[in-house]
Amino acid sequence: MVLQRQQQLDEILSGELLKEFKTVHAMIEIYCGKHHGVLHGLCEECTELSQYAKTKLDRCVFGQNKPTCNRCPVHCYRPEPKENMRAVMRFSGPRMLFKHPLLAIRHLRHEKKEVPEVPKKNVSNRHLRKSSDKL
Ligand SMILES: [Zn+2]
Repeated sequence: MVLQRQQQLDEILSGELLKEFKTVHAMIEIYCGKHHGVLHGLCEECTELSQYAKTKLDRCVFGQNKPTCNRCPVHCYRPEPKENMRAVMRFSGPRMLFKHPLLAIRHLRHEKKEVPEVPKKNVSNRHLRKSSDKL
């Protein structure tokens, strides 16, 4: 069930948002493996965090122009998942280069880009997805 839900959600993201999600997901996997002893997939708590991250990416007000989360001026995470995510980033960030060099390099380059202004109209993946459903 969990896996099925995850696959469905994978399909809603594309482009930069999907790459961002893959990066975040890989980081949670590294963290979970070391801290919760799960070698394949994620424990329940980390699955939840990953889903949360995906929902946030879907709703990100920047849409495809999303800056990297650590430089984002919009604080969209609730305090608890934010703390958890911070721990994941701190732990897995330096390890990404060895495990997933391509994703890591993309992320580092992305980090150097200028942070765009918050768009005035809704360009979130979710909004675009919903409005194209209506067509
Ligand atoms: Zn875990």
